[in-house]
Amino acid sequence: MYAVLGAPADASESQLKAAYEARLADLEREEATDPGPVARDAIRAARSRVEEAWEILSDPKQRLRYDLLIAMEERPAPVDPAPAATPGPAGTPGPAPVHHDQPVPVAPDPQAPPPTHHLPPPPPPTDPRRPPHSGECQLCGSTPATHLEFRRETGLLLVRQRRLVEGSYCRDCGLSLFRETTDKTLMTGWWGFISFFVNWLTIARNVAGRLAIRNLAAPTPNPDVNAPLPAPLDPGKPLFRRFGPYVVVLIAFAVFALFAFAGDPEPTIEPGEEVGTCLDLSTDLQRIEDVVPCDGDEDATVISVIALDQSCPSATIRFQNDEQAFCLRLS
Ligand SMILES: [Zn+2]
Repeated sequence: MYAVLGAPADASESQLKAAYEARLADLEREEATDPGPVARDAIRAARSRVEEAWEILSDPKQRLRYDLLIAMEERPAPVDPAPAATPGPAGTPGPAPVHHDQPVPVAPDPQAPPPTHHLPPPPPPTDPRRPPHSGECQLCGSTPATHLEFRRETGLLLVRQRRLVEGSYCRDCGLSLFRETTDKTLMTGWWGFISFFVNWLTIARNVAGRLAIRNLAAPTPNPDVNAPLPAPLDPGKPLFRRFGPYVVVLIAFAVFALFAFAGDPEPTIEPGEEVGTCLDLSTDLQRIEDVVPCDGDEDATVISVIALDQSCPSATIRFQNDEQAFCLRLS
């Protein structure tokens, strides 16, 4: 059609129009020379072809469609299904470049396909399944599911790290997350000044999440859902068969022992009541257990208070503190 108008394929609209008018003028001039009837018929046929070409090429949409058709006809066998970023790969005998690459205002239609010699690439295969909705486990897509939160606390002396696991989970995924986060929290959550106290709250929150799971029925997978996991998480070993709870038991022992020592200091003999004070001793006689009334049940009586560098008489037991020593006579 461009040849009919005598215009190049990348002609602008005004160039096309000029070519069209020039071609018409040529034909009119030929006709005006009064050629024979055969030539006149040929001129008329040529004129109708020119009109037809102009009708198509002067309309941007029709011109684009025509260009595409031509490009596809010229296109070599479809050996290259890859999306064509560039028209006509270099070095191959591809079709001539399409003129629409140039800023010719021929395609005002924004939905017009891009000017390329290649067919548009086939759409990528789409997964017909949908992502999990609310009320479905966001890990495995199963139902029923409920909103759960689990925290993992790590105490690092002065700083604390917290990780929050939050979302819609089914029973098995939720149980697995509870056991994992709580076990780690029981192990690592104590070892900081703030963490030691906050950790109780973290554990309580996790337990609350665990109680929420209790109301959930067993998870039922939904084949229509495209979830990150193909099946619910394995809940794994129960918490009491993991390491974390035993860390707590050890800590509880340590705390108890600490308070036992701090809350029950060894009895001391007060100044002024040293001599004549009656005492209960430990069975190995190494420690003073208590200061008791001198009613005959006492283990020992203080008979003298001496300086640290002095020694007690024989047949007595010596005790000393930072300042002085005591000599005890066993009852
Ligand atoms: Zn799940």
